[in-house]
Amino acid sequence: MHFETKAVHAGRGIDPVTGAVTTPIHLSTTYERAEDGSYTDGYMYSRGDNPNRRSLESCMTALENGYGCVTYASGMAAISSLIEALPENMPKRIVMADDMYFGVRTMLMETDIGRRYDIVTVDMTNPGALKTVVESAPTGLIWMETPSNPQIKIIDIKAVTEIAKAAGAYTVIDNTAATPMLQQPLALGVDFSLHSVTKYIGGHSDLLLGAVIAKEDNEMLKNMRTWQHAKGAVPSSFDCWLALRGVQTLSARLTMQCSNAKKVVEFLDSHDKVESVLYPGLKSHPGHEIAARQMSDFGGLLSFKVKGGETEALKVANAVNIITQATSLGGTHTYIEHRASVEKELTKAPENLLRLSIGLENAEDLKQDLDQALNHTPGQ
Ligand SMILES: *Cc1c(COP(=O)(O)O)cnc(C)c1O
Repeated sequence: MHFETKAVHAGRGIDPVTGAVTTPIHLSTTYERAEDGSYTDGYMYSRGDNPNRRSLESCMTALENGYGCVTYASGMAAISSLIEALPENMPKRIVMADDMYFGVRTMLMETDIGRRYDIVTVDMTNPGALKTVVESAPTGLIWMETPSNPQIKIIDIKAVTEIAKAAGAYTVIDNTAATPMLQQPLALGVDFSLHSVTKYIGGHSDLLLGAVIAKEDNEMLKNMRTWQHAKGAVPSSFDCWLALRGVQTLSARLTMQCSNAKKVVEFLDSHDKVESVLYPGLKSHPGHEIAARQMSDFGGLLSFKVKGGETEALKVANAVNIITQATSLGGTHTYIEHRASVEKELTKAPENLLRLSIGLENAEDLKQDLDQALNHTPGQ
């Protein structure tokens, strides 16, 4: 089956009890035990497993062409669980890309996870630099994010998996920005693909959910499965159901988001108030050729630098009308965000950078809105 067909059908079917085409939401937390002590339908207590979660996990497994999937209450719960699932006998050293989702940096700086693991960051767009770092000490896990957040860096996934394999390290990719529609990392040798389902897969900014899909059965996957019910950071049945509703239109949405992004990028790239545009679809982007090889399209996420500094960038973010000034990405609405002021003193984001998550509005309206914001900002 092709991606679009799996997005509609995988993990679901006609409800055998009622004939309902749309899967019912199962809210029961507990299931009846038979006289012989068994649980006839395979469910016992909904933290352990439930029909909506099982549907979502098998759909996500199919979409990533993986072995199995474990879902969590949020993308961050998936990330912390994955790190802690690193087997006891593996080195507690994690090499991460230097541009990463800010929530991961916050988790490393403000929780015990950052203290319990030796975290090393490196510019992973340079495989030579990564190789040097990985070879300098035993490494358990290599953490990629591509396209990255918010600097839209592109990492050569295959090159990283080869370095990891030689070093005996697991690899994980945060595949949130690309989604399994645009990028299939497991086929390139990555061990785990991770998603904030909150973003493109849910797609409507109305649920929080995280998922990890494993390429094959291994100790880390087993640990994650145990952690899921034993530590309890599970998604609700309703959120699983919403994710399954959202994923059905992922292809239609993301196709339009990619096409809108391309039009907005062309417009911004030639605007005289814009210093530069960061988007892998641009031939001038240093990762363009790698992105063209490992992605089927360039996505709906981009950043641009306004001429001037923080003041000018904030003026633009404050002056948009159709576009919403808000955090997050992958929704139906276009969001603009000044990352540096959101991330505050710990930020690595350039002060004149604005991130755009392109939505499903008409591209002409988005261009006009950005044009008036760039040209007629208050005080000019
Ligand atoms: C949002 C996001 C996360 C965290 O996911 P939550 O669902 O908000 O916990 C992780 N990685 C990326 C790339 C994200 O955009």
